[in-house]
Amino acid sequence: MPARILNGNEIRDQIKAEVAAELQQFQECGVRPGLAVILVGNNPASEIYTRNKVKSCESLGIHSERLILPETATTEELLSCVAELNGREEIDGILVQLPLPPQVDSKRVLLAVDPQKDVDGFHPVNLGNLVTQRPGLIPCTPAGILEILKRSGIPIEGQRAVVIGRSDIVGKPVALLLMHHNATVTVCHSRTRDLPRVCREADILVAALGKPGMVTGEFVKPGATVIDVGISPLTSRADVERFFPGDAKRMEEFERKGSTLLGDVDPSSVYPVAGAITPVPGGVGPLTIAMLMVNTVRAARLRRAQRPVAVAR
Ligand code: NDP
Repeated sequence: MPARILNGNEIRDQIKAEVAAELQQFQECGVRPGLAVILVGNNPASEIYTRNKVKSCESLGIHSERLILPETATTEELLSCVAELNGREEIDGILVQLPLPPQVDSKRVLLAVDPQKDVDGFHPVNLGNLVTQRPGLIPCTPAGILEILKRSGIPIEGQRAVVIGRSDIVGKPVALLLMHHNATVTVCHSRTRDLPRVCREADILVAALGKPGMVTGEFVKPGATVIDVGISPLTSRADVERFFPGDAKRMEEFERKGSTLLGDVDPSSVYPVAGAITPVPGGVGPLTIAMLMVNTVRAARLRRAQRPVAVAR
């Protein structure tokens, strides 16, 4: 039987509807949560990501601002921008779009964000809250992965989960979340020996390694759930033909746009083996933005409960 497709767009729409209902309650109290996105330079991918984030906020009625600094911005300039946003009562969430240019000390900048406004969940205070299961802001992509599993009725408790990737923003937090939901979790990385064998033990396999198409059918236990986090553009015809043999729709997209997206999973060999899988695009990606909205509203709730100042706009 072909793998069941876990449709991230549908789950995103459910979550956005829930956020909209919550925003209604804020509105009744005369409060409009606010998000500020800082973009440095003109990296085309970052420009698209930040524009989409602001657009999604606006579609829900969250106040949003995009602050654009030049490619030459210094660490000090970013720190002063963050400090200004930390002090603004009507801003509930601050997101610094990564990567930052090489002259900027990214760690110092991320550390400067008020943990209560850290809607990306990257601040060590929030990561510590996640480790110790205290209330806080959880990184968006890992939180989105859990939503996909839960809302698709995929059992987690007692299951064997294997996460490929140990980054601070995806691999480690998703492993913690799965562990907190009582999965038995193995985390793999570039030094793991016999990766396909370890992955074949998984009931839930999360591929977050950033290596397009590397996870083949050989990595997957028949019937397993596969979450494909990777997103990479394929820009050569030979690659599109290799990964999507006979797929006229993909080829047409490639002809039209000059590229098509591939995850870390090789679709032609994994789809026949997996029980369920997130597609790329349309799987994990839509959840990342949805969870940013969730985190902005959550930040507004947590922070304003501590300092009950309603800021009317
Ligand atoms: P990083 O590059 O920070 O981390 C990659 C991880 O994968 C590292 O831990 C690395 O191991 C491991 N790895 C790399 N190569 C191999 C290999 N051959 N075998 C086993 N492990 C390997 O990436 P991110 O976590 O930031 O992102 C991962 C992917 O997810 C990327 O494609 C990114 O674009 C995508 N992404 C998608 C999002 C979405 O919304 N869908 C959001 C965020 C990311 P080691 O630690 O040993 O180097």
